[in-house]
Amino acid sequence: MSYKTFQISDGISLIQETHVANFMRCNIWHIKGQEFDLLIDTGMGLSSLKKYILEETSKPIKAIVTHSHFDHCGSLHEFNCRLGHKNEEDILEKTLNDKIVFSGAWKEIEIIDRKQFPEYSGEKYTVTPASLTGYLDEGDVIDLGSRAFNILHLPGHSPGSIGLLDLKSKELFSGDALYDGELLDNLYHSDPKLYEKTLSRIIKLDVNIFHGGHFPSFGKNRAKEIINNYFSGQNKIKDVKLWFNKSKGMSKDIFSDQNWDSSIKLISQNEI
Ligand SMILES: [Zn+2]
Repeated sequence: MSYKTFQISDGISLIQETHVANFMRCNIWHIKGQEFDLLIDTGMGLSSLKKYILEETSKPIKAIVTHSHFDHCGSLHEFNCRLGHKNEEDILEKTLNDKIVFSGAWKEIEIIDRKQFPEYSGEKYTVTPASLTGYLDEGDVIDLGSRAFNILHLPGHSPGSIGLLDLKSKELFSGDALYDGELLDNLYHSDPKLYEKTLSRIIKLDVNIFHGGHFPSFGKNRAKEIINNYFSGQNKIKDVKLWFNKSKGMSKDIFSDQNWDSSIKLISQNEI
């Protein structure tokens, strides 16, 4: 099985690709709604996410991409409803490896478990193009009946990065604009000035729980720490290969599960 589901809270589950190194693994969020379910991000697309998720729900699915990078948009093409920001559309429609930033060092580093995908090759990997069927931008609202999300435009990491904010539960699905790890602002279409603005905005939001595009979820104090460390120049990926080697050295088995225990505890304490 190349996907695994973790129940995070009532109505929110996390799907992860167990074949992707745990420090590269995208958080794929499945949010249950009354009429339809939301999927936030879709992983690398090495095996069918749609087939997997259809075993978990019978509701129609709206697939959202927080941005167009390979680790988030790989299975987008499988879904009929595909939503994202218009600034990412070109890249999603023409998924050239340089545009989805699967280029340079990414091709060379070993992020896929060969036991599960012996045929995988960094040279041959590509993402199936997918046009957007609808745009999401600042101020839009997605109402699931049980909960609603306000869309925030959070550019900087990429031009059309978006976040989904539940004003009631004070949870933000922040994509790669913010996660509990070293941040990335030096890709070809990153804009560090815009990114600074985005992070300054996020730090002021009334949010209790941050669900990032990678790594376990975290609270307000940790968000402040991550952002302040970034502003002081410490918490950035400057060189992908160095970062990879460092991350790889931190765990014995780079394909093991992440530890979400304290995140789940934190989320359970967040009263709506
Ligand atoms: Zn990204």
